Amino acid sequence: MTEQVRTRIAPSPTGAPHVGTAYMALFNLAFARRHQGKMVLRIEDTDRARSTPGSEQAILDALSWLGIEWDEGPDCGGDYGPYRQSERLELHQAEIDRLLEQGDAYRCFCSPERLDELRKEQMARKETPRYDGRCLALPPEESKQRAKNGEPFVVRMKIPSEGECRFMDELRGEVVIDWSQVDHQVIRKSDGYPTYHLANVVDDHHMRISHVIRGEEWINSVPKHLLLYKLLGWNPPAFAHLPLLRNPDKSKLSKRRNPTGIFYYRDAGFLPEAMINYLGMMGYTLPDQREVFSLGDLSETFDLKRISLGGPVFDLDKLRWLNGRYLREKLSEEEVIDRLLTWKAGKGFLERVLPLALKRLETLSDFFPLAQFLLADKLEYTVTELTGKLDPGEAARLLKIAEWELEKTAEWNRDELSSLFQRMAQTEEMKLKELLPLFFVAITGSTVSLPLFDGMSLLGPDLSRTRIRLALEKLADTGNGLSKKGLKSLEKEYRKAYGDRVD
Ligand code: GLU
Repeated sequence: MTEQVRTRIAPSPTGAPHVGTAYMALFNLAFARRHQGKMVLRIEDTDRARSTPGSEQAILDALSWLGIEWDEGPDCGGDYGPYRQSERLELHQAEIDRLLEQGDAYRCFCSPERLDELRKEQMARKETPRYDGRCLALPPEESKQRAKNGEPFVVRMKIPSEGECRFMDELRGEVVIDWSQVDHQVIRKSDGYPTYHLANVVDDHHMRISHVIRGEEWINSVPKHLLLYKLLGWNPPAFAHLPLLRNPDKSKLSKRRNPTGIFYYRDAGFLPEAMINYLGMMGYTLPDQREVFSLGDLSETFDLKRISLGGPVFDLDKLRWLNGRYLREKLSEEEVIDRLLTWKAGKGFLERVLPLALKRLETLSDFFPLAQFLLADKLEYTVTELTGKLDPGEAARLLKIAEWELEKTAEWNRDELSSLFQRMAQTEEMKLKELLPLFFVAITGSTVSLPLFDGMSLLGPDLSRTRIRLALEKLADTGNGLSKKGLKSLEKEYRKAYGDRVD
């Protein structure tokens, strides 16, 4: 390789940092290190409605906790910044204008209603939904004038109507995709922001990315990206699409089956080096087949060719086993004690919990049972304890609604949580004291503990959400879960009463 290797991870700052992001980051980093290259962290925040600064910070914190280091990024700068897409809009706009001028892109004034109608008709005919090209026929002068008059529009790129796009994927060899499968991609939204596709290509080019290593869900976007490189007169990077992480039943890794938030693993007491080791085993084996290895070991011999494409299964039990080995084989007792202290069992933890526990204490020994739920991962309780006076079906319904509602909470603190549950009680026409016992047991595993909202706030979003899911699972395991049909109608009901879901 003559050119410097430059890889990147390009997370969107929406929601909680995901283990899939860590997985991509790890392989990008190992590849860059192996070739004495650099890894860039770029924040893809062009979705204005969903991006939040809190989520951006959480991504940086989560990756740092794992020991993943980037060479350039929004926090540390670099020669090719800024590293936040929302700060690069002029660059994107210039290329959109260039494509319009070249006649390789066009303004589309079709209303969302028309596009919806079109999609429905195509689906009824069992066709792949795609834009029908109506605005392609607009004379350029008329198109310009309508935009000038303030009519809302998007910009779409022109896509060949026939033929196929062939490209090399470093892992998969030659990939062939028919142009007929590719839509006239929107590259600029009606709010003036570029879409992912445009911004991603422009930024990868300007940031001199040599290798795009990302998840396989992007493989169908490559034709559009390659076409953009060609239209803009640039050399494309090499592409490698990694297999997606899977649940043990081979479905795409989802939080319904496995916790997917990186902070869940931190807060439940997993070691970052065991996580890295485990993620490094996903679809990958070291040349000497070693099972226990560090990021350094992985980087020393890393080779894309050793990645196997069968969906790697993220198995929580295997990760726990590996984590146990790290505790026993890789750390001294002294080090484990240090880890315990910095994880939760230190003075900081006692300082936060004691004020809540104090009025419930008669002896010091009363403290630990009260605080136990903050240190534990899974909790033990029975379905009867969980549901209390509620019918189990109703309990499942309420847990699900709370799960969706909690997904929307950007600020995780006592007051926010308190108003969330108050709103929920109102909507459900229940008294707070009828609603809360269910959540009390789901979160603390007991009917006697610290105040719920303080407890959830200390426990953090990832563990709290996981506990709500585990409570739902417990109900499902005893035949009291929501059926597929029940879930669908609950979703409808939820949208009406609470608004859209965010996950
Ligand atoms: N922002 C995209 C994501 O969130 C990046 C995809 C890519 O790596 O091109 O996954």
